[in-house]
Amino acid sequence: MTQLIQHYIGGRTVESTSGRKQDVFNPATGEVSAQVVLASQEEVHAAVSAAQAAAPAWADTAPLKRARILSKFKELIEEHHDDLAAAITREHGKVFSDAKGEVTRGLEVVEFACGIPQLLKTQFTDNIGGGIDNWQLRQPLGVTAGITPFNFPFMVPMWMAPMAIATGNTFILKPSERDPSPSLMVADLLKRAGLPDGVFNVVQGDKVAVDALLHHPSVNAVSFVGSTPIAEYIYTEGAKRKGPYPLRVQALGGAKNHLVVMPDANLDQAVDALMGAAYGSAGERCMAISVAVAVGSVADKLIEALIPRVKALKVMNGMEAAAEMGPVVTAQHKAKIEGYIADGVQAGAKLLVDGRGLKVAGHENGFFLGGSLFDHVTPDMTIYKEEIFGPVLCVVRVPDFASAVQLINGHEFGNGVALFTSDGNTAREFSRRIEVGMVGINVPIPVPMAWHSFGGWKRSLFGDTHAYGEEGIRFYTRYKSVMQRWPDSIGKGAEFTMPVAK
Ligand code: NAD
Repeated sequence: MTQLIQHYIGGRTVESTSGRKQDVFNPATGEVSAQVVLASQEEVHAAVSAAQAAAPAWADTAPLKRARILSKFKELIEEHHDDLAAAITREHGKVFSDAKGEVTRGLEVVEFACGIPQLLKTQFTDNIGGGIDNWQLRQPLGVTAGITPFNFPFMVPMWMAPMAIATGNTFILKPSERDPSPSLMVADLLKRAGLPDGVFNVVQGDKVAVDALLHHPSVNAVSFVGSTPIAEYIYTEGAKRKGPYPLRVQALGGAKNHLVVMPDANLDQAVDALMGAAYGSAGERCMAISVAVAVGSVADKLIEALIPRVKALKVMNGMEAAAEMGPVVTAQHKAKIEGYIADGVQAGAKLLVDGRGLKVAGHENGFFLGGSLFDHVTPDMTIYKEEIFGPVLCVVRVPDFASAVQLINGHEFGNGVALFTSDGNTAREFSRRIEVGMVGINVPIPVPMAWHSFGGWKRSLFGDTHAYGEEGIRFYTRYKSVMQRWPDSIGKGAEFTMPVAK
């Protein structure tokens, strides 16, 4: 019988009664590996009630105690590192070693959150006015929620849940319906770490669940990561929410990340970087490089070096040790990527390596595509303008550095960007002039470590704060200022003028 992936509410598995469910695939075989339930509005409301009930006691739990639970959670993730990675590969398709890397990057946010007693320290001014002291509190918001994409079913929930929990909030995760299993493994590990019931909940679902979370008056913050149209929807819809507080929203969207290769770059290093960043995880990363910007004389040499490498990519079941690239997530997504490739050819770009039609022996029904490489791509083409989210690299040729910067700054997305050069001044100018949120200098995928914060610019992020790091602490807390004095320092008589320091 097909396994049914359920909700996790109030510390236990809750069977859905919505009557709605969806297939979950193993992308390497194309077979249905499980089904996931899709929540009704009432089921989301039940999760909010559980999170609401747990909120006061959790908010009052000392940060050190919360940190100790997260520390135990970290140990359990380490213990189950391979199990988590295998679950990711099974439902997402990415190569096992890459899935292990995903677990490590999620784990690092847990490590950061373990420092919460230090992170919640604020400023204090002694005697700011006669006999008055002034300080701040960073208080939890209450019930918070996270809606996450398919491409990092462990790491992206870890950008949110440990931060929300460490700061004293309760949390409801609505994972992607395409790879929902890791979310339940997280729930189990958190429970075993000693997290009180109701602090972390999972509702499985689709738009119905998302809308119910967005409109519930007791949900105080929604963190979203996914495609730009949905991120924009979450942000604008969230602004309409009626409740005692406006809904706090951070919505991280899609991307089109460029890697600029300067003529003075080390070409071997640039080619290695492009291979990993464009084809790793089958291009299904929001920080994947999908455009190589070849500056001046470097273009022909770059293309010449890339062609054999793209043709030699080892595409196979992600559980095989030799795999460099696994399948894409679903048959529909594969068809969408193939559509983009056809569109690029139609628009006049030169398809140097065509990844369509690849068959992997023993996995004929898997959702596999080989790597594709386009040259002579121009900014007016759909394959340049839109996010393909697949193993397709587009090379755009530009005459000089200034044109490279102008090209990138003209794109609607501004998530990540990289520059390969051996010149310090070019690197410095690039970092300062480029209108992109995360910049790599000779670093192809500059995903900030957990102690910094993650977020793009322009239509790659809706909202004011980036994810995790100190920005994450700010997102999940409400700032309060306290001024205090005691009777001996209080002067006599009412004051009707604006109080000033005496
Ligand atoms: P998606 O936008 O289709 O789905 C993301 C989430 O939104 C899922 O939980 C899904 O159930 C929900 N959703 C889907 N359609 C909805 C609708 N109509 N209304 C409300 N909710 C809806 O994204 P995806 O395909 O799962 O993930 C890939 C996308 O995510 C890419 O665009 C990628 O760039 C982006 N992404 C961005 C970042 C970042 O940090 N900026 C990180 C990872 C992925």
